Amino acid sequence: MSFNPSKCFSMRVTHKRKLVITKYKMDLHTLEEVCNMAKLLTDQHSGERGVYDCIVVGGGAIGLGTALHLVRQGYRTLLLEQFSFPHTRGSSAGPSRMYRNAYIEEHHAKMVQEIWQMWEELEQETKTTLHKRTGLLVINNENVAAFHQLRDNLVRHRLPFQDLTTEQLVRRFPLMSYRGHYNILLDTEAGFLIANKCLRTMLDQFVKKGGTLHDGEKVVKIVPHRMVTVCTNKGHEYKAGSLVLTPGPWAPKLLKPLGLDLPLKVWRVNVCFFKEKQPGSYLNYPAMFDETKDGFIYCFPSRDYPGYMKFGYHLQWDEVDPDDRDRPGQAGGNKLMVDIEAMKAYVQEHFPGLEPEPSIVENCMYTCTPEEEIHPVYHNIAIGCGFSGKGFKMALLMGKILGDLAMGKPSTYDLSPISMKRFLHQKAKL
Ligand SMILES: Cc1cc2nc3c(=O)[nH]c(=O)nc-3n(C[C@H](O)[C@H](O)[C@H](O)COP(=O)(O)OP(=O)(O)OC[C@H]3O[C@@H](n4cnc5c(N)ncnc54)[C@H](O)[C@@H]3O)c2cc1C
Repeated sequence: MSFNPSKCFSMRVTHKRKLVITKYKMDLHTLEEVCNMAKLLTDQHSGERGVYDCIVVGGGAIGLGTALHLVRQGYRTLLLEQFSFPHTRGSSAGPSRMYRNAYIEEHHAKMVQEIWQMWEELEQETKTTLHKRTGLLVINNENVAAFHQLRDNLVRHRLPFQDLTTEQLVRRFPLMSYRGHYNILLDTEAGFLIANKCLRTMLDQFVKKGGTLHDGEKVVKIVPHRMVTVCTNKGHEYKAGSLVLTPGPWAPKLLKPLGLDLPLKVWRVNVCFFKEKQPGSYLNYPAMFDETKDGFIYCFPSRDYPGYMKFGYHLQWDEVDPDDRDRPGQAGGNKLMVDIEAMKAYVQEHFPGLEPEPSIVENCMYTCTPEEEIHPVYHNIAIGCGFSGKGFKMALLMGKILGDLAMGKPSTYDLSPISMKRFLHQKAKL
C-alpha cells in the first residue's frame, strides 16, 4: 500500500517543537512507518517555520562541504546563498582546482590523506569522477629551505614522490625547458579536481539527503544568541541552534557587524589559458608549481578547455571589493596586467610548445590572511574563510571540521595554527 503523508495527517508543531497529531485517517501502519513520517512532517514544518539545527551562509566549496556534512549527520540544515546556482561570482567556480600532497606547512600535510579519502568516498557514493590525477612537479631554485621542508613533510607522512634533476626533468618532459640547477620533485599522487562538477555533486547530494537550499537569498543581518537569528533580503527570518559562516570574499562585510574585524584581504587574480601549438601535446604532462623570486606560478592541463594549459600566479595583489570585482579599472587598473605579463614571460621561457600569448583570461578572488591561512570557530557560530587560494581541495574536510565545531564537537586536528583566535586580542562578541 502506498503511503502518502499529506493524506494521512494534519498536524501542528507547538512552540516547544512538540509534535501533535490532530487527525489520523489511514489504515493500520507499522509504528516505524508512522514515526518516520511524523519526523519527516516535523522537519518540513520546522523548515516552514524557519527553525533549523544549523544554518550555513554561503554556498561556495566550503559552505557546500559543510552543509553536506551536517545533513549527513542528520541535522536539519538550511543553506543560504546570495546568488542563484550555478554562479561564478565567488572563489569556487571554474573548471579545475589543484590538489596535492606536497605542503610546506605541517598542519596541511597532516590533513592530506583524509582530504583525499573524502573526495574518493563522494566519487564512489555518487558514481561520479571528480578528479584527474596528473602528478605535480614542484620546482624551486629560490627558497631552498621551503623546498626541503615540503620534501621532509612528504617523507615524514610516507607520501609518495620522486626526486628529479633538471636533466631528468627535461628528458622526461621535453616540452618543458629548464636550464641550470633546480630543486625538483614529482608529487605523484597530485592532480586536479573538476571544480564545477565537485560543486554540483556536493549540492545535489545535500538536497538529495534532505537539506534545504535557498539560493538567490542574501543574508543581511545575524543576531547571535542561543538560537541564532538570520535575516535575509527577502524579508525572511530563520532560526537555528548553530550557524556556520562561509562567505568567502564577502567575509569582511558579514563579520564586521558581528564585532569581528579580522585582517582579511580580498584580491582579484587572473588565470590565463595558453593554447598548445600542437593540440594535445601537454595533455599527459603533470601539473607544475614553481616558487619564483616574485611569487608562485602554477599550471596544469585544463580539462574544460582541451588544448589549453591553465596558468595562475600566486602573489599579493591589490585588494578588490567582491561586489565590484569586474568594474573597469578596479584593483589598480594597469597593475592587473602585471601578473598576466609575468605568466607570459614564464611560458615563453619554459613552455616552448605553447603559444606565447594567453587565449583566455578569467579572474577569480583570493581571500587571504596575512599568514595565508584558515580560520574557524566560536560557541555555536563557526566561521570558515581566508583560505588564501588553496581551500577548494579542503572543502569536504573543512566542512566536516566547521560543521562539527558548530554542533559543539571538538575536532581531531590541532586547529591552533589556523584558528582565528590568533588574531583576536579580545573575545569576539558572539
Ligand atoms: C584563481 C584561483 C585559483 C585557485 N586554485 C586553487 C587550487 O588550485 N586548489 C585549491 O585547493 N584551491 C584553489 N583556489 C582557492 C579555492 O578556490 C578557494 O579557497 C575556495 O573556493 C573558497 O571557497 P569558499 O566557499 O570559502 O568561498 P566562495 O566560493 O567565494 O563562496 C562563498 C559564497 O558565499 C556567498 N555569500 C557571501 N555573502 C553572503 C551572504 N551575505 N548571504 C548569502 N550568501 C553569501 C557567496 O555568494 C559565495 O557563493 C583558487 C582560487 C582562485 C581564485
